[in-house]
Amino acid sequence: MNNYSETEYEIFSRLFILNDFSESNLKKLSQIRVGIVGIGGIGCPLSQYLVSSGLKKLLLVDGDIIEKSNLNRQILFNLNDLGKKKVDVAKNRLQQINTECEINVLDKNINSNNVLTLHDCSIVVDASDDWRTSKLLNEFCVTNSINFLYSSVIKHDLQIILFNNSKNNDHLCLNCIFPNKEDIDLPRCNTVGISGISAGLAGLISAQKIINFSLNLTNEANNMTIFDGKKISIENIIIRSKNNCYLNSV
Ligand SMILES: [Zn+2]
Repeated sequence: MNNYSETEYEIFSRLFILNDFSESNLKKLSQIRVGIVGIGGIGCPLSQYLVSSGLKKLLLVDGDIIEKSNLNRQILFNLNDLGKKKVDVAKNRLQQINTECEINVLDKNINSNNVLTLHDCSIVVDASDDWRTSKLLNEFCVTNSINFLYSSVIKHDLQIILFNNSKNNDHLCLNCIFPNKEDIDLPRCNTVGISGISAGLAGLISAQKIINFSLNLTNEANNMTIFDGKKISIENIIIRSKNNCYLNSV
């Protein structure tokens, strides 16, 4: 069964020639549905590289409009887009890479009332820069057995981890690593700053993890990638399960 048109085969010809992209993996690739929450410094390069890597189903979630202070890192946007909705401009730009990909949008910030929109995603990505959103998405993904990728950047430092939430997997989630019952005030990029380059790298590493995981190219689950953009140093740390997480038994 051929999931890509002739035009798509031309667009992706240099990628699909790689051994990793067998017929069966191309079929998988065309069926992955990624929900990206936050179309900002991470979400822009992430969505662009997912579409450029042949993914065909994205759901973009963001309630914000484009401001000047976004432009150092949110590479789908430019000065002509100020005041427009991020999801609308992003969808338009992404569709110019491949007109045949299916891009749905939700122009709202995610909350407990609309989080169900993400129910049919293969992977949900938290690129929101907001701890309450991270907690909500983590709980939603654990409860509904949806794979979850957490990606964050502060200053030059990034950390990314993909959780395999399939039912038969040992429990490990964001709350196991960062247990916080109370809402805490973490440093955010609008107070301490963010390097556009590090945000871009977080988007690219997230894209590679999604492809590695979905096509079984490497074992990405429970592997936290930590990167210092200024030193250009990267580390992968395997995180182990903890039993005392309140989400362990759901
Ligand atoms: Zn947990």
